[in-house]
Amino acid sequence: MELRTAIITGASSGIGAATAKELAQKNIKVMLAARRDERLQELKQEIEELGGTAEYRKTDVTSPEEMEALAKETKEAFGQVDILVNNAGLMPLSFMNKRKLDEWNKMVDVNIKGVLNGIYAVLPYMEEQNNGHIVNVSSVAGHKTMPGSAVYSGTKFAVRAISEGFREEMANTNIRTTIISPGAVSTELTDTITDEDILESFQNNSSDMEPLQSEDIASAIRYAIEQPAHVDTNEVLVRPTKQA
Ligand code: NDP
Repeated sequence: MELRTAIITGASSGIGAATAKELAQKNIKVMLAARRDERLQELKQEIEELGGTAEYRKTDVTSPEEMEALAKETKEAFGQVDILVNNAGLMPLSFMNKRKLDEWNKMVDVNIKGVLNGIYAVLPYMEEQNNGHIVNVSSVAGHKTMPGSAVYSGTKFAVRAISEGFREEMANTNIRTTIISPGAVSTELTDTITDEDILESFQNNSSDMEPLQSEDIASAIRYAIEQPAHVDTNEVLVRPTKQA
């Protein structure tokens, strides 16, 4: 089973962008997806300058129609739809008594429904090929909660449940599923936090912990993808060494 193409959501920054570069270096043709298409265009150029193949499509993962169009364009451009990295996500942490209903809904829409829309869009191609690999990005927060993470953790627990249920259903096919659960990674993810108490506790956190870099997670994704066809790496949990 040779996997030649990958769709990566949330490819405009952080883990998604690093994963696109990592996979492109492995001669996988990458389809970059996110809302900020100017960033995707720059990344496509960067990948091509390094000898890789990339296309991009402006996509909001909360739209099933846009995700279907993304999968269709990948098939048309590259001939097959082999890998989907469901990476797009938001983390506006807040205490529940702040009643940030809009942010709760956004997290559900992007972190859970976005993953479902991705599976919905690529599954017909993968079933037809009887070949594929879906990588869903969860989190250490998908294993445990902490004050302020109730809804975010809820979405990331859901990603793990959906992935595991999907894996069980696909067990008699050549379609593999991997959950990637990172600890703290230095990215733009915390930019969406609006709860001042959470922001203050982040600022007061004097921990000398060295966070992971996006490339550390990209190599975990690459590891899962490059295993032989009979090996399905079900989950990779990666924390900074000094993260409790
Ligand atoms: P970034 O904020 O750097 O990246 C998030 C990406 O998601 C961006 O490319 C953004 O693109 C995209 N995105 C957000 N909303 C949408 C949408 N509606 N449609 C399409 N794309 C969207 O953060 P990370 O790289 O850290 O996050 C990537 C994943 O890793 C997330 O799922 C996150 O929960 C998870 N994670 C991150 C950890 C960390 O410490 N950083 C730890 C554990 C998990 P755009 O705005 O252009 O649409």
